[in-house]
Amino acid sequence: MKPYLGDPTYTIAVLKSHGISARKKYGQNFLIDRAVLQDTVEAADIQEEDCVLEIGPGIGTLTQYLAERARRVVAVEIDRSLQDVLEDTLSGFPNVRVIWGDILKTDIGEIAKEENAGRPLKVAANLPYYITTPILLNLLENGAWISGITVMIQKEVADRILAVPGTKDYGALTLAVQYYAKPELVRVVHPSSFLPQPGVDSAVMHLERYGEPPVQCADKTLMFSLIRASFNQRRKKLVNGIVNNAGLPYTKEQVENALVSCSIRPDVRGETLTLSQFAALSDALSAVAIA
Ligand code: SAM
Repeated sequence: MKPYLGDPTYTIAVLKSHGISARKKYGQNFLIDRAVLQDTVEAADIQEEDCVLEIGPGIGTLTQYLAERARRVVAVEIDRSLQDVLEDTLSGFPNVRVIWGDILKTDIGEIAKEENAGRPLKVAANLPYYITTPILLNLLENGAWISGITVMIQKEVADRILAVPGTKDYGALTLAVQYYAKPELVRVVHPSSFLPQPGVDSAVMHLERYGEPPVQCADKTLMFSLIRASFNQRRKKLVNGIVNNAGLPYTKEQVENALVSCSIRPDVRGETLTLSQFAALSDALSAVAIA
């Protein structure tokens, strides 16, 4: 068995022998810290029958740790120039399949059907930071195909996910994540755990998908439109954010009445509303007859 890539000396040697340098445009920061790798795999709670979807295997570092525990690892990588190095570093792991492509264009349901008899996958990844939010939202909206997500992200994004109403970090991302999953901070990670070092602190987060969302609302699309409209103008009154939003058909009076019917002050700012208040407001507005 080859030594594991989490060892910095070995990682540098592998990169050198394959003539690879990290590509900034793909957000490549390779992990070189065994403790962080172990904590990530631990938080992902991988059982021997599991099929894990990894996003961006890079040179195969986290992939090796995942493949040691899971029945199957499917890793989606956009950078084809990593093919030789991955063939080398993953040669001792026959349970890994690499799919070459963009995770945002990958059919996750197809992978679950082909590789896991349609059962949900566990996702584990050191994410490319330039597309953290679209990847997370795409994974969360992929409903039934994913049971849990354990990811390395920017610490600043972790703070936004965990934020409470009325704080500067609280926003559309907080509410989107909290609608679909229970977020948990696993650990903070210093830039020195990566090669090359990113310019920001990072964090490992675990998102455990809810079977049922924690709030009920009749029209999820309307609720998320209200959320986006309120945070687009977060310093303004919620009612103005909604009325000035081109996509929403409500008058000021209708929004104020809906707020009052939910026992919310009509001059409230959107950034103070909880997820269940947005759900209630959405239900009140979806009952309004539009002129
Ligand atoms: N997993 C490796 C590690 O931990 O050392 C590499 C992580 S690196 C932060 C992010 C990886 O995602 C890179 O390998 C990069 O090429 C890949 N990547 C970037 N954009 C991607 C996309 N749209 N779809 C799939 N992989 C992508």
